Amino acid sequence: MKPILPGAMLGLLGGGQLGRMFTMTAHQMGYQVTVLDPDADSPAGRIADQFICADYADQSALQQIGEQCAAVTTEFENIPADVLSTLASLSRVSPGARSVAIAQNRIAEKHFLKTHGFPVAPFAVIEQVDGEDEIEHLFPGILKVSQFGYDGKGQRPVNDEAELQAAFIEMRSVPCILEKKLPLKSEISVVLARGCDGATVSFPVVENQHVGGILDISIAPARISNRVAEQASAAAKNLVQILEYQGVLCVEFFVLEGDQLVINEIAPRPHNSGHYTIDACITSQFEQQLRALCGLPLGNAALHHPAVMVNLLGDLWQKSEPDWTQVLEEPLAKLHLYGKKEARPGRKMGHFSVLGATVDEALASANQIRQHLESN
Ligand code: ADP
Ligand code: MG
Repeated sequence: MKPILPGAMLGLLGGGQLGRMFTMTAHQMGYQVTVLDPDADSPAGRIADQFICADYADQSALQQIGEQCAAVTTEFENIPADVLSTLASLSRVSPGARSVAIAQNRIAEKHFLKTHGFPVAPFAVIEQVDGEDEIEHLFPGILKVSQFGYDGKGQRPVNDEAELQAAFIEMRSVPCILEKKLPLKSEISVVLARGCDGATVSFPVVENQHVGGILDISIAPARISNRVAEQASAAAKNLVQILEYQGVLCVEFFVLEGDQLVINEIAPRPHNSGHYTIDACITSQFEQQLRALCGLPLGNAALHHPAVMVNLLGDLWQKSEPDWTQVLEEPLAKLHLYGKKEARPGRKMGHFSVLGATVDEALASANQIRQHLESN
């Protein structure tokens, strides 16, 4: 494919923080961006060269993007897959509709992973209250809606069939996955890119800690053995090859006792656990997304410093604007704020990354900054 060069207009479906960071990278490299988002005041829409405020399925908006943009990508995994197919008849689109359709639906995702021999948590599809399936072995478990869940939303712990039935009704009886709750030693993820020539480049494996189902911090590189890191990267590469994926994708893994790896879920876009790449890698996940989209060679994804990324949730703003003094004073810290006006609890408002000579140094410094932020 002929590369799409700086100066071109790129289309972006979704205007959240992932889109904002993509847009900033595109601007740095001399590209223009058109953002489509139904929210009139989205983080990416605000800095885009052209902002179309419309529903994702709005045919005239799609027509406009398809005609004006040299290539189109997405930052939001719940774009209806047929929107991507429509756009693909007008412009170059990555990732493709099939990959997004699999990643946005837990039932399709689990079946895909299982069919191709990837290890997943024991699960059952729950589509009615009194299903026939034998599910006793899945308790204690977690009931997850198959679509539109994120940051732990749309999930309930369930200990027996009565709790499962109550939770299912609470979820309005939409199709769900019941998954066995596994004893996690740790959680890791692999963000990687696959270009249009089939070449893949993987970022270092990162370790993730969640609080209340929301990513809290990411530690790069993950504190795991080389063997586990290689296994995770190899599985992620295998997965994007099977999908014939184009673009950036994240694979979330659970690490169990005995270092057994289980794939939790995949995201067909840059990922919160890859934000450390902006400040700690030679190429960021957003530059890699742009490179894959435009048919440029993928960049070097090596880590130049160990790093810790800490998410800044709306909870921090509850009393007043956080005191940024310490994060701004630390020479190895980088503050990123997404420009969201309303700071609701649990809402991702920004993050900071801290580099260090070692992971322990970066962690100590990140913890100090966070304590200072939380004490105000
Ligand atoms: P989301 O789409 O909201 O990220 P996930 O399925 O990744 O949902 O779940 C969020 C978090 O909940 C996981 O990162 C993990 O900490 C915990 N979790 C999810 N499924 C399981 C499970 N089967 N066993 C143990 N913990 C789980
Ligand atoms: Mg997740």
